[in-house]
Amino acid sequence: MNGIAVVDRAVAEAAAALARAREVVLVAHVDPDADALGSALALGTALHRRGAGVQVAFASPERVPESLAPLDALGLLVPPADVSAAPEVLVSCDAADPGRLGSLGRLLDTARCTVMLDHHGTNPGFGDIRVLDPAAEATVVLAHRVLVELGAPLDADVARCLYAGLVTDTRGFRTAGPAAYRLGAELVEAGADPAALTRTLMDSHPFAWFEGLGRALERAVLEPSGLLHTTIPLADVLRYRSEEIDSVVDVLRTAVEAEVVASVMQVEERRWRVSLRSAGTVDVAAVATALGGGGHAMAAGFTREGSEQEVLAAIRAAWPGDVAAP
Ligand code: AMP
Ligand code: MN
Ligand code: MN
Repeated sequence: MNGIAVVDRAVAEAAAALARAREVVLVAHVDPDADALGSALALGTALHRRGAGVQVAFASPERVPESLAPLDALGLLVPPADVSAAPEVLVSCDAADPGRLGSLGRLLDTARCTVMLDHHGTNPGFGDIRVLDPAAEATVVLAHRVLVELGAPLDADVARCLYAGLVTDTRGFRTAGPAAYRLGAELVEAGADPAALTRTLMDSHPFAWFEGLGRALERAVLEPSGLLHTTIPLADVLRYRSEEIDSVVDVLRTAVEAEVVASVMQVEERRWRVSLRSAGTVDVAAVATALGGGGHAMAAGFTREGSEQEVLAAIRAAWPGDVAAP
């Protein structure tokens, strides 16, 4: 069976399992983004409207990012401590591996049935039903396919959640294929407002952030290999919202000289979360996987312990052999 047929069958199996379920827990990956939470809330909203008991959760941080809070129109989000201990069906959304579910990964062992929805090429495969398609631009594309199979109506609340994941994971449709553009049009017709959603999700920062961004840009270093990196110290990571901190990598990537950009964010004294973006030559999923993370060829990440210099040295050491080392 080819890859397309495998995904088709998994979508049908996922829809069948969800159609029967009376109780569904949908989990987004830690540090949730619009794709993870949008997938979970789109499916959760539709299942709730069909009469199922629905909980949506993520293991950390404690609070939902401010820009994503409006996606939870029905109030389906619950703190991790309140999540049912042994759900009838568990849906993992946009998590490249079980570790990305954080403490909620324990539900993989207690749920009666697990559905995994994901689009990361580095995903090793987990769960009973695996809707895994690295060709999908976003996990919401897969969530949408499951909703169609379920015969669930695409109302404005669901459309907003799906659009949020689609527009962010494709960086404003820059990396979208024709089918994703068609889905975008369908979602706008169903009530998603592109201007309002992109403004809150991608284009809103407090003025005070410009000072922090200035510091991050001042610290940026371009190495001869084309590795461009900057470090965001713990004080700034704590001072600003994740929306601000996570946006630095998108500014860095505009440097034409950069092959790979790395935003090295200090999340504890000796713990660093790193976002990697490629201009095309270097497969950053391979780099991130070598360092304990994962992702896509053009966008990946990992979290690592050590000093700032050790983390940078690890990135240089993981640089692929056929590309000039920094
Ligand atoms: P980020 O830099 O956090 O925006 O992540 C870029 C891409 O890499 C996203 O698709 C993430 O889901 C993925 N990613 C980030 N960190 C990890 C990790 N530790 N393990 C697996 N995938 C990751
Ligand atoms: Mn994600
Ligand atoms: Mn995604």
